[in-house]
Amino acid sequence: MTQRTALVTGGTGGIGSAIVRHLAKQGHKVATNYRDEAKAGAWREAMAREGIEVCTVRGDVSDPESCAAMVRAIEEKCGPVDILVNNAGITRDTTFHKMSYQQWTDVINTNLNSCFNVTRAVIEGMRARKWGRIVQISSINGQKGQYGQANYAAAKAGMHGFTISLAQENAKFGITVNTVSPGYVATDMVMAVPAEVRAKIEAQIPLGRLGKPEEIAHAVAFLTGEETSWMTGANLAINGGQYMGW
Ligand code: NDP
Repeated sequence: MTQRTALVTGGTGGIGSAIVRHLAKQGHKVATNYRDEAKAGAWREAMAREGIEVCTVRGDVSDPESCAAMVRAIEEKCGPVDILVNNAGITRDTTFHKMSYQQWTDVINTNLNSCFNVTRAVIEGMRARKWGRIVQISSINGQKGQYGQANYAAAKAGMHGFTISLAQENAKFGITVNTVSPGYVATDMVMAVPAEVRAKIEAQIPLGRLGKPEEIAHAVAFLTGEETSWMTGANLAINGGQYMGW
């Protein structure tokens, strides 16, 4: 296996931690960003107890200058970023007629503009080295829409347009660009939903349960592997069968 440097944004979160763990166990050098020093320190120690060393750098994905500085710092510490997983994301749910401009822009900046901010900082290096793997973590709700999530669904759907354009522009440079669209995954965020609401969600899932973060990480590892070099512009929907469209 070729050891590469992987940047997973939002690596301290539920799905992000599983992706970091999986890529690190494959032998890659893995980096992620943090915003809160104390929270990141505790997370880094928990990972170290599992034998996983992670390079952590301060960075806000919604801010282009912060992302440029974050990528520079990671590349100085760990070498050029060959694998990028645009995973950081937030929700600010409310029905559209009550949605503030702030709720709209917070979600668009963190979930979609972040893809520009971070990818822009790594893409020229990947093109020069003629190798790269880029994966966006989108969502089932970017495919089918969701009541109360016009901002989130717009951002997540936008990630698909971003993916397929970037895939076309960079194919001849050995760079693949794909999207993973998880359904409901048992992270803290989803487990905090009242049990009766969760039961209703589970009832809509043909496979009868929430996803596990490791199942999303497994898909990311597949898409970022050396062998997965003829797959670009694709969307892997991993949702227990809840949505079977594109
Ligand atoms: P978490 O809330 O557990 O983790 C989100 C991560 O993103 C955290 O590390 C958080 O850092 C980071 N983050 C948020 N905003 C910023 C920012 N401005 N700059 C830098 N980092 C930031 O979420 P999940 O693990 O559940 O979700 C991960 C991704 O998967 C998201 O994109 C989400 O939309 C998507 N997804 C999740 C699903 C689910 O069921 N959980 C389903 C479908 C898609 P901090 O601790 O500093 O806030």
